[in-house]
Amino acid sequence: MIKILANDGIDAVGKRLLEEAGFTVETQNIPQEQLPEALKNFDAITVRSATKVRKELIDACPNLRLIGRGGVGMDNIDVDYAREKGLAVVNTPAASSPSVAELVFAHLFTGIRFLHDSNRKMPVEGGTKFNALKKAYGSGIELKGKKIGIIGFGRIGRETAKIALGLGMEVLAYDLYDVPATLQLNLAGGVNVDVPVTKVEFNELITESDFISLHIPFLDKPILGKHEFERMKSGVGIVNCSRGGTIDEQALLEALDNGTVGFAGLDVFDNEPTPRQEILTHSKVSLTPHIGAATNEAQERIGVELASLIIDFFKK
Ligand code: NAD
Repeated sequence: MIKILANDGIDAVGKRLLEEAGFTVETQNIPQEQLPEALKNFDAITVRSATKVRKELIDACPNLRLIGRGGVGMDNIDVDYAREKGLAVVNTPAASSPSVAELVFAHLFTGIRFLHDSNRKMPVEGGTKFNALKKAYGSGIELKGKKIGIIGFGRIGRETAKIALGLGMEVLAYDLYDVPATLQLNLAGGVNVDVPVTKVEFNELITESDFISLHIPFLDKPILGKHEFERMKSGVGIVNCSRGGTIDEQALLEALDNGTVGFAGLDVFDNEPTPRQEILTHSKVSLTPHIGAATNEAQERIGVELASLIIDFFKK
Protein backbone atom coordinates (compact mmCIF):
# COMPACT_ATOMS: atom_id res chain seq x y z
CA MET A 1 0.00 0.00 0.00
CA ILE A 2 1.42 3.40 -1.03
CA LYS A 3 1.61 5.78 1.92
CA ILE A 4 1.50 9.55 1.44
CA LEU A 5 2.17 12.20 4.05
CA ALA A 6 0.38 15.46 3.17
CA ASN A 7 2.37 17.43 5.73
CA ASP A 8 0.95 20.88 4.93
CA GLY A 9 -2.55 19.47 4.33
CA ILE A 10 -4.33 18.64 1.07
CA ASP A 11 -7.79 19.60 -0.15
CA ALA A 12 -10.51 17.04 0.74
CA VAL A 13 -11.29 16.25 -2.91
CA GLY A 14 -7.62 15.51 -3.67
CA LYS A 15 -7.39 13.31 -0.56
CA ARG A 16 -10.50 11.39 -1.58
CA LEU A 17 -9.14 10.79 -5.10
CA LEU A 18 -5.93 9.36 -3.64
CA GLU A 19 -7.83 7.13 -1.23
CA GLU A 20 -10.16 5.91 -3.99
CA ALA A 21 -7.02 4.97 -5.93
CA GLY A 22 -6.03 2.77 -2.97
CA PHE A 23 -3.43 5.02 -1.32
CA THR A 24 -3.19 5.84 2.38
CA VAL A 25 -3.06 9.57 3.06
CA GLU A 26 -2.02 11.02 6.41
CA THR A 27 -2.51 14.72 6.96
CA GLN A 28 -0.97 15.37 10.36
CA ASN A 29 1.43 18.28 10.45
CA ILE A 30 4.67 16.75 11.69
CA PRO A 31 7.22 19.32 12.94
CA GLN A 32 10.22 19.75 10.66
CA GLU A 33 12.74 18.33 13.17
CA GLN A 34 10.71 15.11 13.57
CA LEU A 35 10.32 14.50 9.84
CA PRO A 36 13.58 12.56 9.22
CA GLU A 37 12.27 9.84 11.56
CA ALA A 38 8.54 10.11 10.83
CA LEU A 39 8.83 10.16 7.03
CA LYS A 40 10.87 6.93 6.83
CA ASN A 41 7.79 4.77 6.25
CA PHE A 42 6.19 6.94 3.60
CA ASP A 43 6.47 6.61 -0.19
CA ALA A 44 5.60 10.24 -0.90
CA ILE A 45 5.33 13.60 0.81
CA THR A 46 3.25 16.56 -0.32
CA VAL A 47 3.99 20.05 0.96
CA ARG A 48 2.90 23.63 0.37
CA SER A 49 5.40 26.31 1.33
CA ALA A 50 5.82 25.58 5.06
CA THR A 51 7.53 22.16 5.13
CA LYS A 52 11.11 22.07 3.83
CA VAL A 53 12.33 19.03 1.93
CA ARG A 54 16.09 19.48 2.02
CA LYS A 55 18.98 17.14 1.19
CA GLU A 56 19.25 15.86 4.79
CA LEU A 57 15.59 14.84 4.87
CA ILE A 58 15.83 13.16 1.48
CA ASP A 59 18.95 11.23 2.64
CA ALA A 60 17.18 10.15 5.83
CA CYS A 61 14.22 8.64 3.95
CA PRO A 62 15.39 6.06 1.38
CA ASN A 63 11.81 4.82 0.81
CA LEU A 64 10.69 8.21 -0.45
CA ARG A 65 9.90 8.14 -4.19
CA LEU A 66 7.97 11.34 -4.80
CA ILE A 67 7.81 14.90 -3.48
CA GLY A 68 4.69 16.86 -4.43
CA ARG A 69 4.41 20.64 -4.07
CA GLY A 70 0.87 21.98 -3.96
CA GLY A 71 1.45 25.30 -5.72
CA VAL A 72 4.20 26.86 -7.81
CA GLY A 73 7.44 27.88 -6.07
CA MET A 74 9.79 25.05 -5.15
CA ASP A 75 12.18 27.18 -3.05
CA ASN A 76 11.45 24.89 -0.06
CA ILE A 77 12.57 21.72 -1.88
CA ASP A 78 16.08 20.66 -2.97
CA VAL A 79 14.69 19.77 -6.38
CA ASP A 80 17.95 19.03 -8.23
CA TYR A 81 19.27 16.86 -5.42
CA ALA A 82 16.00 14.93 -5.18
CA ARG A 83 15.99 14.28 -8.93
CA GLU A 84 19.66 13.22 -8.86
CA LYS A 85 18.67 10.64 -6.26
CA GLY A 86 15.91 9.38 -8.59
CA LEU A 87 12.92 10.91 -6.84
CA ALA A 88 10.06 12.43 -8.79
CA VAL A 89 9.34 16.07 -7.93
CA VAL A 90 6.00 17.45 -9.12
CA ASN A 91 4.07 20.70 -8.62
CA THR A 92 0.83 22.31 -9.76
CA PRO A 93 1.89 25.54 -11.44
CA ALA A 94 -1.34 26.65 -13.12
CA ALA A 95 -3.89 25.84 -10.44
CA SER A 96 -3.67 29.08 -8.50
CA SER A 97 -3.24 31.61 -11.32
CA PRO A 98 -6.85 32.91 -11.46
CA SER A 99 -6.92 33.37 -7.67
CA VAL A 100 -3.65 35.31 -7.57
CA ALA A 101 -4.81 37.49 -10.48
CA GLU A 102 -8.09 38.27 -8.69
CA LEU A 103 -6.14 39.25 -5.56
CA VAL A 104 -4.19 41.76 -7.68
CA PHE A 105 -7.50 43.43 -8.48
CA ALA A 106 -8.65 43.26 -4.87
CA HIS A 107 -5.56 45.38 -4.10
CA LEU A 108 -6.07 47.66 -7.10
CA PHE A 109 -9.72 48.41 -6.33
CA THR A 110 -8.74 48.90 -2.70
CA GLY A 111 -5.98 51.36 -3.59
CA ILE A 112 -7.93 53.51 -6.03
CA ARG A 113 -10.83 54.00 -3.56
CA PHE A 114 -8.73 54.08 -0.33
CA LEU A 115 -10.53 51.06 1.16
CA HIS A 116 -7.44 49.97 3.12
CA ASP A 117 -7.28 53.31 4.94
CA SER A 118 -11.03 53.80 5.15
CA ASN A 119 -11.43 50.36 6.75
CA ARG A 120 -8.88 51.36 9.39
CA LYS A 121 -10.37 54.80 10.11
CA MET A 122 -14.13 54.25 9.80
CA PRO A 123 -14.42 52.14 12.98
CA VAL A 124 -12.62 54.88 14.93
CA GLU A 125 -13.75 58.12 13.29
CA GLY A 126 -16.73 57.13 11.13
CA GLY A 127 -19.29 58.01 13.82
CA THR A 128 -17.92 61.45 14.62
CA LYS A 129 -16.07 62.63 11.51
CA PHE A 130 -18.12 61.03 8.76
CA ASN A 131 -18.10 64.04 6.46
CA ALA A 132 -14.38 64.65 6.96
CA LEU A 133 -13.67 61.06 5.94
CA LYS A 134 -16.07 61.39 3.02
CA LYS A 135 -13.96 64.30 1.82
CA ALA A 136 -10.64 62.54 2.50
CA TYR A 137 -11.65 59.55 0.37
CA GLY A 138 -13.55 61.56 -2.20
CA SER A 139 -10.92 61.70 -4.93
CA GLY A 140 -10.83 58.10 -6.11
CA ILE A 141 -10.13 57.15 -9.70
CA GLU A 142 -11.36 54.47 -12.13
CA LEU A 143 -9.34 51.63 -13.62
CA LYS A 144 -11.24 51.76 -16.93
CA GLY A 145 -9.14 53.41 -19.60
CA LYS A 146 -5.92 53.33 -17.54
CA LYS A 147 -2.66 51.55 -18.41
CA ILE A 148 -1.51 48.60 -16.34
CA GLY A 149 2.09 47.48 -16.76
CA ILE A 150 2.60 43.79 -16.10
CA ILE A 151 6.16 42.67 -15.35
CA GLY A 152 6.44 38.93 -16.01
CA PHE A 153 3.92 37.73 -18.58
CA GLY A 154 3.68 34.06 -17.56
CA ARG A 155 0.67 32.24 -16.17
CA ILE A 156 -0.37 34.75 -13.51
CA GLY A 157 0.70 37.81 -15.51
CA ARG A 158 -1.58 36.71 -18.35
CA GLU A 159 -4.53 35.97 -16.05
CA THR A 160 -4.07 39.43 -14.55
CA ALA A 161 -3.96 40.93 -18.04
CA LYS A 162 -7.22 39.21 -18.99
CA ILE A 163 -9.06 40.77 -16.05
CA ALA A 164 -7.54 44.15 -16.90
CA LEU A 165 -8.61 43.86 -20.54
CA GLY A 166 -12.12 42.88 -19.43
CA LEU A 167 -12.26 46.07 -17.38
CA GLY A 168 -11.30 48.20 -20.37
CA MET A 169 -7.70 48.81 -19.31
CA GLU A 170 -4.74 48.92 -21.70
CA VAL A 171 -2.16 46.22 -20.95
CA LEU A 172 1.57 46.95 -21.29
CA ALA A 173 3.42 43.64 -20.98
CA TYR A 174 7.12 43.08 -20.31
CA ASP A 175 8.79 39.67 -20.14
CA LEU A 176 12.24 38.27 -20.90
CA TYR A 177 10.55 35.87 -23.31
CA ASP A 178 7.39 35.72 -25.43
CA VAL A 179 4.55 38.16 -25.15
CA PRO A 180 1.58 37.22 -27.37
CA ALA A 181 -0.01 39.95 -29.51
CA THR A 182 -3.48 39.11 -28.18
CA LEU A 183 -5.09 37.28 -25.27
CA GLN A 184 -8.36 35.41 -25.52
CA LEU A 185 -10.98 36.48 -22.98
CA ASN A 186 -13.44 33.69 -22.16
CA LEU A 187 -16.59 35.54 -21.24
CA ALA A 188 -19.91 34.38 -19.85
CA GLY A 189 -22.23 32.67 -22.33
CA GLY A 190 -19.34 30.91 -24.07
CA VAL A 191 -18.23 34.12 -25.81
CA ASN A 192 -14.52 34.26 -26.66
CA VAL A 193 -12.89 37.52 -27.67
CA ASP A 194 -9.29 38.15 -28.73
CA VAL A 195 -8.02 41.44 -27.28
CA PRO A 196 -4.63 43.01 -28.10
CA VAL A 197 -1.88 43.55 -25.54
CA THR A 198 1.07 45.88 -26.05
CA LYS A 199 4.52 44.35 -25.69
CA VAL A 200 6.91 46.94 -24.28
CA GLU A 201 10.47 47.25 -23.07
CA PHE A 202 11.08 47.62 -19.35
CA ASN A 203 11.77 51.36 -19.57
CA GLU A 204 8.50 52.09 -21.37
CA LEU A 205 6.53 50.04 -18.86
CA ILE A 206 8.09 51.93 -15.97
CA THR A 207 7.45 55.37 -17.42
CA GLU A 208 4.04 54.87 -19.08
CA SER A 209 2.02 52.73 -16.65
CA ASP A 210 -0.64 54.07 -14.29
CA PHE A 211 -0.43 50.81 -12.32
CA ILE A 212 2.32 48.21 -12.20
CA SER A 213 1.86 44.59 -11.15
CA LEU A 214 4.75 42.16 -10.60
CA HIS A 215 4.54 38.52 -11.71
CA ILE A 216 8.12 37.35 -11.85
CA PRO A 217 9.99 34.74 -9.80
CA PHE A 218 12.36 35.71 -6.99
CA LEU A 219 15.44 37.32 -8.54
CA ASP A 220 18.86 37.92 -7.00
CA LYS A 221 18.06 41.63 -6.70
CA PRO A 222 14.88 43.75 -6.72
CA ILE A 223 13.53 44.69 -10.15
CA LEU A 224 11.91 47.87 -8.74
CA GLY A 225 14.11 50.20 -6.69
CA LYS A 226 14.80 53.91 -6.24
CA HIS A 227 15.97 54.40 -9.83
CA GLU A 228 12.75 52.85 -11.22
CA PHE A 229 10.37 54.65 -8.82
CA GLU A 230 11.94 57.99 -9.78
CA ARG A 231 10.97 57.48 -13.41
CA MET A 232 7.36 56.37 -12.82
CA LYS A 233 4.23 58.47 -13.34
CA SER A 234 3.38 60.46 -10.25
CA GLY A 235 0.82 58.59 -8.13
CA VAL A 236 1.39 55.20 -9.79
CA GLY A 237 -0.16 52.20 -8.00
CA ILE A 238 2.13 49.21 -7.39
CA VAL A 239 0.94 45.67 -6.67
CA ASN A 240 3.17 42.78 -5.68
CA CYS A 241 1.57 39.34 -5.45
CA SER A 242 4.70 37.54 -6.69
CA ARG A 243 7.60 37.13 -4.26
CA GLY A 244 9.17 39.17 -1.49
CA GLY A 245 12.50 40.65 -2.56
CA THR A 246 11.32 41.68 -6.04
CA ILE A 247 10.76 45.26 -4.77
CA ASP A 248 13.27 47.27 -2.74
CA GLU A 249 11.01 47.91 0.27
CA GLN A 250 13.03 50.85 1.59
CA ALA A 251 12.81 52.59 -1.80
CA LEU A 252 9.10 51.82 -1.94
CA LEU A 253 8.53 53.41 1.47
CA GLU A 254 10.38 56.54 0.33
CA ALA A 255 8.38 56.67 -2.91
CA LEU A 256 5.11 56.31 -0.96
CA ASP A 257 6.17 59.08 1.39
CA ASN A 258 7.21 61.49 -1.36
CA GLY A 259 4.06 60.76 -3.40
CA THR A 260 5.72 59.19 -6.44
CA VAL A 261 3.84 56.00 -5.62
CA GLY A 262 0.18 56.66 -4.78
CA PHE A 263 -0.42 53.32 -3.13
CA ALA A 264 0.95 49.81 -2.93
CA GLY A 265 -0.89 46.51 -2.59
CA LEU A 266 1.34 43.83 -1.12
CA ASP A 267 0.73 40.12 -0.64
CA VAL A 268 4.44 39.27 -0.33
CA PHE A 269 7.22 40.79 1.73
CA ASP A 270 10.89 40.73 2.56
CA ASN A 271 11.56 38.62 5.57
CA GLU A 272 8.28 36.68 5.68
CA PRO A 273 6.69 35.80 8.05
CA THR A 274 7.83 38.92 9.93
CA PRO A 275 7.54 41.86 7.51
CA ARG A 276 8.88 45.23 8.60
CA GLN A 277 6.58 47.36 10.72
CA GLU A 278 6.86 50.52 8.54
CA ILE A 279 5.29 48.59 5.67
CA LEU A 280 2.58 47.00 7.81
CA THR A 281 1.46 50.33 9.25
CA HIS A 282 1.81 52.59 6.21
CA SER A 283 -1.47 54.35 5.42
CA LYS A 284 -0.93 53.98 1.66
CA VAL A 285 -0.36 50.22 1.73
CA SER A 286 -3.05 47.57 1.29
CA LEU A 287 -1.92 44.32 2.90
CA THR A 288 -2.57 40.59 2.70
CA PRO A 289 -0.45 37.86 4.35
CA HIS A 290 0.68 35.87 1.27
CA ILE A 291 -2.76 34.47 0.46
CA GLY A 292 -2.66 34.72 -3.35
CA ALA A 293 -3.43 31.03 -3.84
CA ALA A 294 -5.55 30.67 -0.73
CA THR A 295 -9.03 30.34 -2.20
CA ASN A 296 -11.26 27.28 -1.95
CA GLU A 297 -11.27 26.92 -5.72
CA ALA A 298 -7.48 27.12 -6.10
CA GLN A 299 -6.90 24.70 -3.22
CA GLU A 300 -9.33 22.22 -4.75
CA ARG A 301 -7.65 22.49 -8.17
CA ILE A 302 -4.24 22.08 -6.50
CA GLY A 303 -5.43 18.99 -4.57
CA VAL A 304 -6.99 17.37 -7.63
CA GLU A 305 -3.97 18.08 -9.84
CA LEU A 306 -1.54 16.82 -7.20
CA ALA A 307 -3.61 13.66 -6.67
CA SER A 308 -3.66 12.91 -10.38
CA LEU A 309 0.12 13.46 -10.69
CA ILE A 310 0.75 11.11 -7.75
CA ILE A 311 -1.64 8.46 -9.06
CA ASP A 312 -0.06 8.63 -12.53
CA PHE A 313 3.41 8.23 -11.03
CA PHE A 314 2.71 5.24 -8.81
CA LYS A 315 0.38 3.45 -11.23
CA LYS A 316 2.50 3.69 -14.36
P1 NAD B 1 5.51 31.83 -14.61
O1 NAD B 1 6.78 31.06 -14.61
O2 NAD B 1 4.35 31.29 -15.39
O3 NAD B 1 5.76 33.33 -15.11
C1 NAD B 1 6.85 34.09 -14.71
C2 NAD B 1 7.25 34.94 -15.89
O4 NAD B 1 8.25 35.86 -15.46
C3 NAD B 1 7.85 34.12 -17.04
O5 NAD B 1 7.14 34.40 -18.24
C4 NAD B 1 9.31 34.60 -17.12
O6 NAD B 1 9.80 34.63 -18.43
C5 NAD B 1 9.18 36.00 -16.54
N1 NAD B 1 10.41 36.53 -15.99
C6 NAD B 1 11.34 35.91 -15.24
N2 NAD B 1 12.32 36.77 -14.90
C7 NAD B 1 12.00 37.96 -15.46
C8 NAD B 1 12.62 39.22 -15.50
N3 NAD B 1 13.78 39.45 -14.88
N4 NAD B 1 12.02 40.20 -16.19
C9 NAD B 1 10.84 39.98 -16.83
N5 NAD B 1 10.22 38.80 -16.84
C10 NAD B 1 10.78 37.80 -16.16
O7 NAD B 1 5.12 32.02 -13.07
P2 NAD B 1 3.68 32.35 -12.48
O8 NAD B 1 2.96 31.08 -12.18
O9 NAD B 1 3.03 33.37 -13.34
O10 NAD B 1 4.10 32.98 -11.08
C11 NAD B 1 4.63 34.28 -11.01
C12 NAD B 1 5.06 34.60 -9.59
O11 NAD B 1 3.93 34.53 -8.70
C13 NAD B 1 6.09 33.66 -9.00
O12 NAD B 1 7.03 34.41 -8.27
C14 NAD B 1 5.31 32.81 -8.04
O13 NAD B 1 6.12 32.29 -7.02
C15 NAD B 1 4.32 33.83 -7.54
N6 NAD B 1 3.13 33.27 -6.90
C16 NAD B 1 2.63 33.92 -5.81
C17 NAD B 1 1.51 33.42 -5.17
C18 NAD B 1 0.94 34.13 -3.97
O14 NAD B 1 0.36 33.47 -3.12
N7 NAD B 1 1.05 35.44 -3.89
C19 NAD B 1 0.88 32.26 -5.64
C20 NAD B 1 1.40 31.64 -6.77
C21 NAD B 1 2.53 32.17 -7.39
